[in-house]
Amino acid sequence: MKGQMVLVLAAIAAVILALASDASARPKIVVLATGGTIAGAQTSTKEVGYKSGTFKVEDLIKAVPQITELADLTGEQIVNIGSQNMNNEVWLKLAKRVNATLKRDDVDGVVITHGTDTMEETAYFLNLVVKSDKPVVMVGSMRPATATSADGPANLYNAVAVAIHPEARGRGVLVVLNDEIHFAREIEKQNTTQLDTFKSPNRGRAGVANTGAVHFFNKPAALHTTASEFSVEGVDVLPRVEIIYSYANLGRDFIDCAVEKGTKGLVLAGVGDGNSTDPALAALGDAVKKGVVVVRSSRTGSGLVVRNVEIDDDKMDTVAAMELNPQKARVLLMLALMKTSSPKEIQDKFSKY
Ligand code: GLU
Repeated sequence: MKGQMVLVLAAIAAVILALASDASARPKIVVLATGGTIAGAQTSTKEVGYKSGTFKVEDLIKAVPQITELADLTGEQIVNIGSQNMNNEVWLKLAKRVNATLKRDDVDGVVITHGTDTMEETAYFLNLVVKSDKPVVMVGSMRPATATSADGPANLYNAVAVAIHPEARGRGVLVVLNDEIHFAREIEKQNTTQLDTFKSPNRGRAGVANTGAVHFFNKPAALHTTASEFSVEGVDVLPRVEIIYSYANLGRDFIDCAVEKGTKGLVLAGVGDGNSTDPALAALGDAVKKGVVVVRSSRTGSGLVVRNVEIDDDKMDTVAAMELNPQKARVLLMLALMKTSSPKEIQDKFSKY
């Protein structure tokens, strides 16, 4: 009898040990939640209206029970907002939290839930200031959590699968949605409501992720994370940079106003190849003379803006955004302005990042 008891106890101990070692063998992923449609709830499932950032991080993880087979997840709520309300302050808080989390030996990667509206901006900001090779994967959804065929749970599952994939290391910040993986620098939201809203028009996707099966196609095209010169260490405020949207008949008033209000940098969301009207260009030229750094980008959604095509950047002392769309050019310009206000040096950074 006593012998049997010992055998039973030994068996129980073996099972406990096996379970414990199994759990410790699973990668550890921290989910940092910021809100967005992935955490959004409708008042009625028959209506298109909904409120972003309603559900908490624990609810998002619970909605995908099979995710715990991939990794040990812990969740942390950074903010709970629609990403249309994302701002520099939250970016700094988030970036510092990502860096602190990835420094931990017991953490293998970070997944960030986020609204899709400004996902590309947050992704690019983090891509330049995260100081780790460990995977950072951003994820959102186009349908709220309460919708029929909500896409959030599958996207979150794929995001964790990407975050634990050995090839995800060293690729900079990645974005997962609609079974696709995109690089932070390349991704753009291009549709208001459809599931395939994210495109990487200039250089293509990083890869695909389908029901947790991950395939990478590409390496990042520019410097990022550990190779980036930018840091948020000790930074509480980012320099003010505004975007001016160009269109037929644009005058100079808004540009003059931005300069009067003290902006340090201006990004032109130019027509075509980063172009604008004569009055707007005259105002931008005056802004440069007052020490404001002016970057020419394009509202077209793809392609390069290079120096000295229709506009003489050498003469105007302006910067060409190269492959960055206006909202990402703003991110790089804010970080660059913390290092220098020389248009020449800032042009060099637009060629590198
Ligand atoms: N406004 C929402 C957001 O960005 C909608 C987009 C989404 O999350 O899909 O948070």
